Amino acid sequence: PLASLQDPTLLKTQALVNGQWVDGSSRFAVHDPATGALLAEVANLGAAETEHAIAAANAAWPAWRALTAKARGAILMKWFHLLHQHADDLARIMTAEQGKPLAESRGEVGYGASFIEWFAEEARRAYGETIPTTDPTKRYLVVRQPVGVCAAITPWNFPIAMITRKVAPALAAGCPVVIKPAEATPLSALAVAELALRAGMPDGVLNVITADAQRSIEVGKVLCASDTVRHLSFTGSTEVGRILMQQCAPTVKKLSLELGGNAPFIVFDDADLDAAVEGALVSKYRNAGQTCVCANRLYAQAGIYEAFVEKLAARVAEMKVGNGFEPGVVQGPLIDAEALNKVETLMGDALAKGARVLTGGARASVAGGAFYQPTVLANVDASMRMAREEIFGPVAPVFRFESEADAVRMANDTEFGLASYFYSRDVGRIFRVSEALEYGMVGVNTGLISTCEVPFGGVKQSGLGREGARQGLDDYLETKYVCLGGL
Ligand code: ADP
Repeated sequence: PLASLQDPTLLKTQALVNGQWVDGSSRFAVHDPATGALLAEVANLGAAETEHAIAAANAAWPAWRALTAKARGAILMKWFHLLHQHADDLARIMTAEQGKPLAESRGEVGYGASFIEWFAEEARRAYGETIPTTDPTKRYLVVRQPVGVCAAITPWNFPIAMITRKVAPALAAGCPVVIKPAEATPLSALAVAELALRAGMPDGVLNVITADAQRSIEVGKVLCASDTVRHLSFTGSTEVGRILMQQCAPTVKKLSLELGGNAPFIVFDDADLDAAVEGALVSKYRNAGQTCVCANRLYAQAGIYEAFVEKLAARVAEMKVGNGFEPGVVQGPLIDAEALNKVETLMGDALAKGARVLTGGARASVAGGAFYQPTVLANVDASMRMAREEIFGPVAPVFRFESEADAVRMANDTEFGLASYFYSRDVGRIFRVSEALEYGMVGVNTGLISTCEVPFGGVKQSGLGREGARQGLDDYLETKYVCLGGL
């Protein structure tokens, strides 16, 4: 699938350190999850190269921070336009290594690029303040300055957007970055880095350390232990987030963490059912259910339960599963066999405890990768593992509830708190429920909530900090108070 790129030079297999494409001591394989085919062998870097990248970033910092926000923004805007100009190639690379349908990959290129444009503009508004003095001989000033060298460790489910959402605010704020992309999807990261160089990014300001699963642990340790790295941003599992947080304790590093979710999707009796079904489809099955904001637990009120599950199952049964390059395919493979095993384990547990399959319920008969049928389950209850664990696959368990209070209680009964959704036409209920949900994000009558202008992030064990929006810049800026005396 990568033979037909319009610009084959976007296909990079070396890592980027200090503006140079470099090799490590070995290489690791990147596969197409739809076919299992080998796509590329990518440089496998370790501790020494990571130290080198951190030093290069630190050396590049003074000149980068000395530029005005507008001048940094001009480079970012060029980068943004280059992503759009090469959107077709970037989408092909993404579908090849990640598996999502080509239309979804194109959508992600636009979404990923939007963060670059947004923060290019937003950094010019990193305002400080003056505080009214309480001493006539003094004045109080507050300024905001870049935190320093930043590290970003990113997942495979959004190979471009999870990078730009961290890197764009860091760069815009005046911080150089060292990125460790997911081992399953390094090619998208490297293509985007190549475009950053073409946009005029100075050497050392943006570095990409590619590494396989084992070396990623080593690279992560170096990034966390470094006193030069002042901020770590991570998107991935809660389990790895905890490890990184611990590793960052000795250097008291600033942290932004986007971790796991267990999103509830509640449909009340008074909802517009057809709209709720459409919302559930995009929220649940996008990216084959592999997003941290995917509906994980669907709750339908008793009065509309049967009607909702029937309508949902009918729409889900129409979904075409297959290779993401094939026209009409709306669901690709899961990322790997391990992901498929997890879905099958959770399904086995639910079926053993009495769940009823309305559609799907098995591997899809597509040769090659880890394909699973889009699935709807009824008769599910809180004893099943999928009530507590993130499925990260195309399975929608639909729970039944009686009252509004029950729905809120069940929805909040989790250690996670990222995204939540509900459908209702009652204005009082909309206020009550959106205020009662213990989540960082609430979608009311919509299953799609993310855009660069709004703060994305979670409460409880779903993470720390917010990405995107005005707030997304905060993590990359220190607040400095200057007391001007002797007036
Ligand atoms: P997922 O389950 O989505 O693969 P992970 O949390 O395992 O999420 O991985 C997300 C990112 O974290 C990837 O880039 C991966 O290489 C990296 N990673 C995984 N384990 C560690 C670790 N112990 N230290 C540093 N990075 C890690």
